[in-house]
Amino acid sequence: MDATGTPVSQTFIQKEGSYGARNYAPVPVVVDHAKDCLVWDVEGKEYIDMMSAYSSVSHGHLHPRIVAAAEAQLKKVAVMSRAYYSTTLGPLLEKLSEVTGFERALPMNTGAEAVETAIKCARRWGHRVKGIPDGMQRILVARGNFHGRTSTIVGFSSEQDYRSGFGPFCDGFQHFDYGGMESVKAAATEHTCAVLVEPIQGEAGVIVPPAGFFRDLREWCTQKDILLIDDEVQAGLGRTGRWFAFQHEGIRPDALILGKALGGGLLPVSAFCADDKVMQVFVPNSHGSTFGGNALAAAVALEGLKVLQEEGLVDQCAAKGEYLFRRLREVQAEVAPLIRDVRGRGLWIGVDIEPTCTTARDMVLRLAAAGVLSKETHETVIRFAPPLTITQDLMDRAVDIFRGVAVEKCRELGLRTRPAGA
Ligand SMILES: *Cc1c(COP(=O)(O)O)cnc(C)c1O
Repeated sequence: MDATGTPVSQTFIQKEGSYGARNYAPVPVVVDHAKDCLVWDVEGKEYIDMMSAYSSVSHGHLHPRIVAAAEAQLKKVAVMSRAYYSTTLGPLLEKLSEVTGFERALPMNTGAEAVETAIKCARRWGHRVKGIPDGMQRILVARGNFHGRTSTIVGFSSEQDYRSGFGPFCDGFQHFDYGGMESVKAAATEHTCAVLVEPIQGEAGVIVPPAGFFRDLREWCTQKDILLIDDEVQAGLGRTGRWFAFQHEGIRPDALILGKALGGGLLPVSAFCADDKVMQVFVPNSHGSTFGGNALAAAVALEGLKVLQEEGLVDQCAAKGEYLFRRLREVQAEVAPLIRDVRGRGLWIGVDIEPTCTTARDMVLRLAAAGVLSKETHETVIRFAPPLTITQDLMDRAVDIFRGVAVEKCRELGLRTRPAGA
């Protein structure tokens, strides 16, 4: 409380509300500080972070090794642009090549910028290597996609809220049904240079594609000489229980887009990764970013990758994800009328709420009040994506709280619940 008896959090919420653009509708929790998987608000209330900034905080908040790497670099140099070389970018690019298996990487800052980089690369490759007349290149994208918020990218979103009033949009994208190979083939033309796709559609509601789709897509792209570009900004770097989600599919894309967790939970760092035969279309002056790959960002990203490797977080994620999935399925069985699906891979799970009961937003607000941070996507899906460092004890606590909230909701609605084990 402040002197007038108003909760301190209200003053911060009001300031953002009064002086900020209204482009977000945040959950009313004012975070003051955080450590690993726990977050505290300005009133000192503790929360379990089951959202990890849409997977940006996969290492946990303020991982000591990553903070130490940042502090060490802050005593040397942070930003000098790519006009010069640095002692951290080269080692980051080398490490990226080691973990992704791609020969080269182009560093940017946000995920959307790395997607833009992929689009430019695909188009230039389509023209210069594949021989498509410049300006005629076409990229296939999935319905329900999410690739960021630039005007080019929202132009091929299928989400009205993301697009409405923001036209005119960039030409050159054609849609297919996610998971439908026949739909991909029908959308393609002789001018198709690339397929840009998420391995799991996160914003669309944690949609896992049907088994075999990516294998068929890979085969078809190879046959047609079309680049398969895999947007793993959210799925990559261990989130699904493998380093990259494409590994579950037994394929290798032609290019990979990384972001979010690449910044080690501290900074925006993204990258577009590809082999030389694709990346070679970029020459001096063809593309760039003032902050992309700066010395501080590179030091942080490099340490973040080492932490993932050396702490075995990717393998842990697979086991922890199975555990969390099983526990959430148990809750589903208990409150069956309220939850119509639990789905996902690794520590990336969507709980789909029956829309005739309530909204995901309602459940997210109740969870926050009870000490668990999550986030809705669309009307019905609650996303759980905790840091990969989460312990079984914290997962149990979060699931117990979720169960309490769900049972209470059922009681309010007069729905029958079936106690676990009954
Ligand atoms: C978050 C996200 C992006 C955009 O990243 P920003 O850093 O918000 O620009 C792109 N693609 C996918 C799959 C994402 O989840």
